[in-house]
Amino acid sequence: MLFVTGGAGFIGSNFVNNWLKTTSEPIVNVDKLTYAGNLQNLTQALQGERHFFIKADIGDSQIISNLLSKYKPRAIINFAAESHVDRSIHDPDEFVQTNMLGTMRLLKAVGDYWGRLPERQKSEWRFIHISTDEVYGSLAADDPPFCETSPYAPNSPYAASKAGADHLVRSFHRTYGLPVITTNCSNNYGPYQFPEKLIPLTIHHALDDKAIPVYGDGLNIRDWIYVADHCSAVRAVLAHGRSGEVYNIGGVSEKTNIDVVNLICSILDAERPRADGASYKRQVTFVKDRPGHDHRYAIDAGKIRRELGWSPQETFDTGLQKTIRWYLDNQAWVTNVTTGAYRDWVCAQLQRTNRFGVRASSLPAEPAPASTRSRGRCRNRCCPFMTSR
Ligand code: NAD
Repeated sequence: MLFVTGGAGFIGSNFVNNWLKTTSEPIVNVDKLTYAGNLQNLTQALQGERHFFIKADIGDSQIISNLLSKYKPRAIINFAAESHVDRSIHDPDEFVQTNMLGTMRLLKAVGDYWGRLPERQKSEWRFIHISTDEVYGSLAADDPPFCETSPYAPNSPYAASKAGADHLVRSFHRTYGLPVITTNCSNNYGPYQFPEKLIPLTIHHALDDKAIPVYGDGLNIRDWIYVADHCSAVRAVLAHGRSGEVYNIGGVSEKTNIDVVNLICSILDAERPRADGASYKRQVTFVKDRPGHDHRYAIDAGKIRRELGWSPQETFDTGLQKTIRWYLDNQAWVTNVTTGAYRDWVCAQLQRTNRFGVRASSLPAEPAPASTRSRGRCRNRCCPFMTSR
């Protein structure tokens, strides 16, 4: 039995879906269902018998302890986090609450459980902590990419809260011997990404004939990785990673933000031309830069390649083509997210459940169509994006 947290979010749901498709091992999925958690990412998984979804906070040690005792997992993968840099600038509290305090409480509950395991199971156990390259701060144009020994220098409250979590994870290994592994990954993109992040936001605004915002001069550089490649890296770490180690994960795809946006526009021009025949690039609008905006991230993924034989399968071009195709084919998902209708659907399901949340097989196959729901009202006041219609 595998135990994941944050498995209703973007990366976590991609991981869960792929896991259930490609293994026979059951999975417990604990998610608080914040604005970023969406059960509509898991519609297939929720119908199956091998997926146990529980709505809970990683900071609720009592529930986590009960679940560990009940399901007796062999490993936990911690995807749960507040993850959006702009939100952390606006209001850092929730970031410290979940990313630091939540992770610490999760570590304590896991540590208590692990401490009671028979000796022979202890060394096999794993706590995999999913982190970000943003903990390393920003690179100049000619700096070498971040490696596992790069010093931490977080610049946003998000990155600082993730850095704090990474240090706590490390300390539980050094102090208590908990078999942890931390992964620091670059920018992900792919299906089910909440449309507040650059790539889905660009696609959504392009198709909706809205301004496509680009921070500053658009020359900030990110290293992009297709989400399925990140998930396969996490699986490699789970299978063969060494306890106490850190592995950096990257897609070997450094791009400026404006190049990413222009490429999306070009693909959409071919796949779904604007009615007036103009390029989507005409919607690009440069906006005031984000405060403390890191200039460049780049990852040296040599360690995971050498030690675990992992490398990304998608180039940026192939991954982006797949991503755009997915968003074009799943406009109902986008509409449900951008109108907030997915929150109603989640609430309706949760009302039918006990205090531990949803038993996977009790959910309907498909969400009700967005057209049956009230539109344009944000039910989640912390989410400015969802008020945008
Ligand atoms: P996301 O925001 O899409 O999903 C986060 C999930 O965690 C949501 O389902 C949310 O409901 C859940 N969650 C939040 N607080 C919780 C809590 N207190 N208890 C339980 N569940 C909670 O994020 P994502 O993009 O899928 O990122 C997943 C992880 O990967 C995060 O730790 C993030 O820092 C890390 N990461 C993300 C990227 C990226 O580009 N998206 C890159 C590197 C690392």
